[in-house]
Amino acid sequence: MSKTRFTKPFTQQESIPQTGIDAAVKLMQTGRLHRYNSIADETAAAAQLEREYAAYMGQRYCLACTSGGYAMHVALKAAGLRAGEVVLTNAFTLAPVPGAIDNAGGKPLLVEIDDNYCVDLTHLQTCMRHSKARFLMLSHMRGHIADMDAVVELCERYQVILIEDCAHTMGATWNGKRSGSFGQVACFSTQTYKHMNSGEGGLLTTDDGDIMARAILYSGSYMLYERHGTLPDLERFADIRLDTPNYSGRMDNLRAAILLAQMPELEGNCSRWNDRYQALQSRLAQCAQLQLPERPESEYFVGSSLQFRVKDLDKDQAAEFIAGCAARGVELKWFGGAEPQGFTSRYDSWRYIEGQQHLPYTLAILANTFDLRIPLTFSIEDMDIIGGIIIDEATAIIA
Ligand SMILES: *Cc1c(COP(=O)(O)O)cnc(C)c1O
Repeated sequence: MSKTRFTKPFTQQESIPQTGIDAAVKLMQTGRLHRYNSIADETAAAAQLEREYAAYMGQRYCLACTSGGYAMHVALKAAGLRAGEVVLTNAFTLAPVPGAIDNAGGKPLLVEIDDNYCVDLTHLQTCMRHSKARFLMLSHMRGHIADMDAVVELCERYQVILIEDCAHTMGATWNGKRSGSFGQVACFSTQTYKHMNSGEGGLLTTDDGDIMARAILYSGSYMLYERHGTLPDLERFADIRLDTPNYSGRMDNLRAAILLAQMPELEGNCSRWNDRYQALQSRLAQCAQLQLPERPESEYFVGSSLQFRVKDLDKDQAAEFIAGCAARGVELKWFGGAEPQGFTSRYDSWRYIEGQQHLPYTLAILANTFDLRIPLTFSIEDMDIIGGIIIDEATAIIA
């Protein structure tokens, strides 16, 4: 009997909504693609997106920029990072996070993660106490949200500025409060594989008018900052406008138009992701060899990807398991491999970080963690097929 194969690609997103395509075409006909190229009484799409996203987040200000990584870079600079300063960040994240810290002149100090892929609070406290760092770049990696009450409490106690990397938590909440509204600044990505898709793109949100004024100037606003969608009092610019370098990274109107059309669909898409996640997770839960992360009541996550571990699997078996799934069309990512692959890399491959750290707990967890994307082009029924293949291949190897 031939084995079931899954044939849909894991990298295929849904199309841009027709309203977005229409808006993009209309905008191209005007030729006014640059965010400051608007005519009298016209609100540029980039400014409109800033208004709508800030309102969605319940934050005063939003800055639209070129990428999530760029938003993080500007967030650190705008929050006052000085050259050579330490920035805490969880060790399980994606390469643009330590990259943004480095780009802003900071030195990443990596914090261990716990069994559920969140920052380890005990290690975080130790790092805060010993490093005296003024910044925590908390990456809600793969949508796993740490106990935010505890994180905020630690940040207050050690006077640490919290910046949230919400690349995977756009639309998520903790105790009913939006992920990205716990820290001083939050950064989002609208790169194709995130929760809204403009190819590349980033959004930064904050309630702090001084941080926003600096972020706008850094993003490359020239002396046109008054045209931003969510503008702090102009006095906040008066003193700093000639002292703040232009790190040219504006979002253009074309991408903003595509994103504006996706805003009304965001909440609905989050629950569509969750329907798929729940279906896959309950299928995988039928196999005792598979270990799924615990997700606390307080966490409303967006299940655009799923992580699991296979009990008692060594390195060779892990490679065999991935190959077995791949041969049947199920694309798993592995953060346990010695060499970085595709979008995946482990913290010890970021060799530019001074004073390479050894994080045994994170290494042990990642050695046995498998990660898969759940694009919205997959149906609920697909989850059953994918889950079945994963269980088959895992049990064949362990047996
Ligand atoms: C994608 C991603 C980013 C950066 O986003 P870009 O828009 O690609 O720069 C940051 N953090 C995490 C966890 C990501 O997955």
